[in-house]
This record gives sequence, structure tokens and C-alpha cells, in this order.
Amino acid sequence: MFLMRLEGEKRMPLTDKFGRPILDLRISVTDRCNFRCVYCRSADPENHMPSNELLTWEEYERLARILVAMGIRKVRVTGGEPLVREGVENFIARLKALGVQDLSMTTNAHLLADRCDRLVAAGMDRINISLDSLDRAKFEKITRTKSFDKVMAGIDAAQASQLRPVKVNAVLVRGVNDDEVEAFAGFARQRGLIMRFIEFMPLDADRAWTRDMVVTGAEVHRRISALWPLVPVVHERSETARKYRFADGPGEIGLISPVSQPFCGACSRIRLTADGKLRTCLFSKEDHDLRYLLRGGASDREIGDEIIAIVAQKEKGHRINEPGFVPPSRTMVSIGG
Ligand code: SAM
Repeated sequence: MFLMRLEGEKRMPLTDKFGRPILDLRISVTDRCNFRCVYCRSADPENHMPSNELLTWEEYERLARILVAMGIRKVRVTGGEPLVREGVENFIARLKALGVQDLSMTTNAHLLADRCDRLVAAGMDRINISLDSLDRAKFEKITRTKSFDKVMAGIDAAQASQLRPVKVNAVLVRGVNDDEVEAFAGFARQRGLIMRFIEFMPLDADRAWTRDMVVTGAEVHRRISALWPLVPVVHERSETARKYRFADGPGEIGLISPVSQPFCGACSRIRLTADGKLRTCLFSKEDHDLRYLLRGGASDREIGDEIIAIVAQKEKGHRINEPGFVPPSRTMVSIGG
């Protein structure tokens, strides 16, 4: 009885040893994806996690409840592709019921047009949609799909819904889509949305990343502001994007520059993988198994204690720019971006 009462109680807010408050949780609900983007997955067949290794919705909900009681305010559901796992709308509703203040999803939008209303009804606040080219042929080459129209319909549905803001994310890769910076900015202006440019990170399955494939945020800023004056927008310290609005009209851009301008000093994120591992950095060498605790009869308090111990080990920074950097063994699709 006493234990039961303890299990719902509030705990000290999570803070790492560098004093960074941990407020944001990314939850990967699957490592499966219906796209095979060149900078993320391999053309070769990849192994998926066996289904018994994936957390159940109940297990996710339990961990989310424990983490919300420890100060998590923002949750982003991701994958793999989160919309390919059945029941994700119901999970969103459960997260909302736990009191998550800012609830969002990252999706490739292939399935979004038909699901958007249900996600809104479930309580989702906002959405991030990946779109790496505005050119159909190039989009097909990057994603290795024929889904351009479906993704555009997904963006339309998101913009017509109550989800706000709608952010569209492009990973720029030199020689692949870096010629589209200005077109993406024009898209943001025309559609009145937030277009975010993400630097390519060494998390691709093919291990093809090289530094000269990275298109820096500084270059993007220079190229766009040569066409349209940009005005900085105030952002929270822990936000990944440097934000700018257009001086002369609607639309915004965000520059996410983890390689050229790391923002680890204000990082407030932890990540839960689809197989129940907690990661304290995208580039962590190790992840920490919570599934064995969930399945081994641990109490909420014991799981909370383990989370505190894991967060204490959060890395100071990602080390991409340090000599001898070695990318993590898990690639983006199996971490959850
Ligand atoms: N399937 C969803 C989607 O496409 O948005 C969610 C998962 S995806 C792994 C999450 C984000 O990671 C996407 O914006 C994707 O473009 C980004 N991403 C994947 N590989 C990346 C890499 N090597 N460098 C930078 N971003 C990457």
C-alpha cells in the first residue's frame, strides 16, 4: 500500500552533473520506416528489432509517467516512422493524459493526411515533417520512394489542422540537395511555415558521412539573407534551432547546426529507443537498458532511481569535432531522431 502511494509521487526534477535540467524526451516507437532516405538508412536490407524486444504501449506509458513526475515537459514521438506502428494515436492520448505540456511528433508524413485528425483529437500539439527535396525526382531519389504527393498532402493536412507550429525539416547533404536552400526558403514564405535546415550528422547506416558533405547553418543563413532579409527570433536556450523570420512577410527558418555550432551546453534531451534503452546523447557510446527493469518487476521508484543514475552520466558534448571521434554503433533510425 505504502509502495503504491510512493509510485505516483513527484520526484526531484532531473538535472545532470553539469546542471542542465532534463525537460525533453524523445520516444522512438519503432525502428521500422517506410522510407529509406540515403542519409539515414542503407539500400541493403537491414535487420529490424524483433517485436518482443519492442516496448509495449503500456511499458512506454509507465516510463513516461515516471519521467513526467521527474520533470519531463516536452515529449516528441518519433522512430523509425512513428505512424507505421498501429496504436500511436492512442499512445498520444495517453501521453496527453499524463500531463505532457508539449506533445509533438516527427514524421515523414507519408501516412499523415489520413491520420492528422486523429492525432489532433488525441491531443497532439504540433508536428515536424521531414521533406528533403521540393523536386519530385530528387525526392524519390533521396527517400527511395514514390511518395512525394502523399507527403505534400500530409503537409497540407497539417497546415489545415490545429497543429501549430508546422515545422518542415530538410537534412542538407552537399551535392544532393544543397542547391535547394533558396527554394526551401521560398516554400516557407509561400506556405507561411517554419522551414528548418539540419546539418547532416555521422549517423547514417552506410557510414558515408564526411565533413565536406555538411552544409553549415552559416552558409544557409548567408544564402537566404542575400535574397530576403532575416530577423532573429528569440528562442529558448535549450532549443536546437537558431530561428529567423523574414523581415518582409510570413514564414520562418530554423538552422540546426550540431556539427558546425554544437548546442550541447544547453541540451535538455534524453531519448528512449524502441527497445527500451535510455540514451543521454544522440552520440552516446552506450545506452542504458530500462526494459529489463520494466520486465523484471522493478518498482517505479527503482526505475526512477536508475534514471537518475543514467542522467548523471550524460555526456558534456557530442565530440563530433574532436580527433578520434567514432560514431555510435546505432544509426539514426534505431535511435529515434
Ligand atoms: N521517420 C520520421 C521522419 O522521417 O521524420 C522520424 C524519424 S527520422 C530518423 C527523424 C529525423 O532525423 C528526420 O528529420 C531525419 O531527416 C533526421 N535524420 C536522419 N538521419 C540523419 C542524419 N544522418 N543527419 C541528420 N539528420 C538525420
